Amino acid sequence: MNLIIMGAPGSGKGTQAAIICKTHNIPHISTGDLLRKNIADGTELGKKAKEFMDAGKLVPDDLVIALLKNRISEADCKNGFLLDGFPRTKAQADALAEIVDIDIALNLITDLNKLADRMASRRVCLKCGFTTSAQDAPDGICKACGDKLVIRDDDKREVVENRLKVYEANTAPLVEYYEQKGLLKAVDGMQSIEAVNAAIEAALK
Ligand code: ADP
Ligand code: ZN
Repeated sequence: MNLIIMGAPGSGKGTQAAIICKTHNIPHISTGDLLRKNIADGTELGKKAKEFMDAGKLVPDDLVIALLKNRISEADCKNGFLLDGFPRTKAQADALAEIVDIDIALNLITDLNKLADRMASRRVCLKCGFTTSAQDAPDGICKACGDKLVIRDDDKREVVENRLKVYEANTAPLVEYYEQKGLLKAVDGMQSIEAVNAAIEAALK
């Protein structure tokens, strides 16, 4: 199954993506995680991407498309994958359509007004990509690998506003793109983590 999960920043895409991938035993490909890994490792790509990400802007298409193409060509993607955070622009969607067929594009519907608060309390592990909230991890330690949890540089209020604007301008139109291809399944993302997951599983049947 070749899947895409779409939704605004802070919509819970990453959390749901991790659950889906465990259930269906497919790799979770998050371009945000891949980019943050490159930054942590100090690669050339990481250096180029960091300024865009810290400002809440999109990393240029050519860089992200090359990154995604490399990842998707790896052996573990042969039997399916879930894309989280890609495509984010029409150009990325067109590039993706040239390399693979997508079976379903999930869209998490959320109330944009409530997302800034979610992002302010988000905590992530830069080592393994695990995402949680300050409330759920008061010790600041990653449940998955034991590393330290951090606040993302782009989860600051000023940056969050910009990310939501960028989402509305560039990424929200992709909902229509996949709708027109008959691949879109919408899910209410404002429910509990378990309820959202149940709705997703129903949509995948
Ligand atoms: P969120 O979904 O919460 O915005 P991500 O981890 O998916 O978080 O993305 C964080 C940042 O990484 C984005 O704001 C952007 O700068 C960069 N990024 C991730 N994926 C892409 C992409 N497909 N195209 C361009 N930039 C991207
Ligand atoms: Zn971890």
